[in-house]
Amino acid sequence: MTKSAELFQQARKTIPGGVNSPVRAFAGVGGDPIFIERADGAYIYDADGKAYIDYVGSWGPMILGHNHPSICDAVITAAQNGLSFGAPTAREITLAELVSKLVPSMEMVRMVSSGTEATMSAIRLARGFTRRDKFIKFEGCYHGHADCLLVKAGSGALTLGEPTSPGVPADFAKHTLTCTFNDLDSVRAAFEQYPDEISCIIVEPVAGNMNCIPPQEGFLEGLRGLCDEFGALLIFDEVMTGFRVALGGAQAHYNIKPDLTTLGKVIGGGMPVGAFGGRRDVMEYIAPTGPVYQAGTLSGNPVAMAAGEAALTELSKEGNEAHLAELTKRLAEGFKTAADKHGVALAVNQVGGMFGFFFTDKDTISCFADVQQCDIEKFKRFFHLMLEEGVYLAPSAFEASFTSLAHGDKELEATLAAADRAFAKLASE
Ligand code: PMP
Repeated sequence: MTKSAELFQQARKTIPGGVNSPVRAFAGVGGDPIFIERADGAYIYDADGKAYIDYVGSWGPMILGHNHPSICDAVITAAQNGLSFGAPTAREITLAELVSKLVPSMEMVRMVSSGTEATMSAIRLARGFTRRDKFIKFEGCYHGHADCLLVKAGSGALTLGEPTSPGVPADFAKHTLTCTFNDLDSVRAAFEQYPDEISCIIVEPVAGNMNCIPPQEGFLEGLRGLCDEFGALLIFDEVMTGFRVALGGAQAHYNIKPDLTTLGKVIGGGMPVGAFGGRRDVMEYIAPTGPVYQAGTLSGNPVAMAAGEAALTELSKEGNEAHLAELTKRLAEGFKTAADKHGVALAVNQVGGMFGFFFTDKDTISCFADVQQCDIEKFKRFFHLMLEEGVYLAPSAFEASFTSLAHGDKELEATLAAADRAFAKLASE
């Protein structure tokens, strides 16, 4: 028995399902999860000492790769000066200014400790500011696990077959309107049905929780237009896309200005951080300046702020943004070429440092219904073939995969050679 299998058995005795977040359990691909012992650069190492080229990157944040010296040094130094004060620090200003500079629509920023907190707080703020209860989300998009957001959600909620969770009262869920990603008509219909009741739209500008689905031309512009027409706020959930699709997030890449933006783990370079921010008049509506309540003992935690400052400073360095996009494109195209060579039908999506592939003969995957029609069994088989080869992809057909700046030629070539062998096997089965 492997050490990972032993640990999984032991974990299940005291931790529900043996994991502290569902997708980690490999429910989406079958088999036992590998337990990670350490990570460095583009690699993670399991409890049995096997190395894997990592395309999960802690689900997005490790854009600089694991164990980046600037982040590690910043964390160690900050930790030596105290772990938490529950009082303001200069570092919080530095990080807020840095975020605001990179994402100019975020005129004001509030730090929180997770993406879930960021989206939950942004929705509350939008509801409070507009004095309206309803909001629109898209089927297959995931925005964390706040009650009202667990309606037709993506990510683990999809993988585990419970996109609308028990425990969410119908009375809460009834204010969540679900539309179809890349389908503006479905959004207009919702606004026309409830013209004065919709507070906001929340959207992953590039969906990363039903695999990777970019917005089609005109979709994000259309959402902006509909929000303006009906007096609703537009929230971009950039927990995955922030600093990854482009340094200024998907809003910079597609040149659309949302009213509010939510950011997550990426800011902290791996430490538990999130943030939401946006228009000054809206942000001043939260406590203590405004009536909408929002708080957090560990918000703006000094160690997390230090990690964030180091991570964003490194990421901002000349050339990093273009390099990340270029290497990811090369990888995505390489997957497609290898699949074609073996006659395996594959569609690949890629934007900046995120990508996803779909076992389908359709050319375009644009919404959740398209993803559902793909060959999930083939994905599972491919995932395990790649895992054996030492390549760790997102363990679900409903998740995007991520690259990092630590993925060099050696790692890309090894990944594509492994993919070539895996596609060959799939084709022969
Ligand atoms: N929004 C998006 C787009 C996400 O992908 C996630 C999690 N991956 C969240 C929100 C929730 O973030 P967290 O898991 O840090 O609470």
